[in-house]
Amino acid sequence: MIESFEVMKIFKDKGALLNGHFRLSSGLHSDQYLQCALLLQFPDLAERLCTELAFKIRELHPSVIISPAIGGILVGQEVARALKIRAIFTERNRETDKMELRRGFSVQSNDRVVAVEDVITTGVSIYESTQVIEQFGASVVGVGCLVQRNQQAVKYFNSPIYSLLQIAVQSWTMEECPACQKNIPIIKPGSRAK
Ligand SMILES: [Zn+2]
Repeated sequence: MIESFEVMKIFKDKGALLNGHFRLSSGLHSDQYLQCALLLQFPDLAERLCTELAFKIRELHPSVIISPAIGGILVGQEVARALKIRAIFTERNRETDKMELRRGFSVQSNDRVVAVEDVITTGVSIYESTQVIEQFGASVVGVGCLVQRNQQAVKYFNSPIYSLLQIAVQSWTMEECPACQKNIPIIKPGSRAK
């Protein structure tokens, strides 16, 4: 079983976990930024880490993996591959802003569903995916992610959360941000500007 320090090293080696001064999509400032896609672009690493996650959630005896698009799809696929079960995903309807199952995906009422995501921060997306599943009468027996960024997500779920790495990412308003007070230039990840 992989240790969390090894997971951390893999993330750092691939530039998927950066230290610096960042403006998060929430508008808050942080000294760490996580971009899982930079790790998942290497399929061998994606396979290795997701196999480890699959090993952890195997005790739940899942029959289907559900993930929220887009970030969760790759992880869901690799976890399901390791467990030799189906992987499906929910997508957000742009008009209603609600998560839904499309493409003919479905679950049965006797399915044991585990919801899987790359990174759980607030847990909102993955929670919405589990709500979709429950509309079908299936049970969500657990939640899995590569990285869990805070403990608050736990409040959404009655089922256990499995992760390979837990990182408490600190964030501040601009006024409270220590890096701003030192006039350190800010990076807005996702944009090309540095
Ligand atoms: Zn700042």
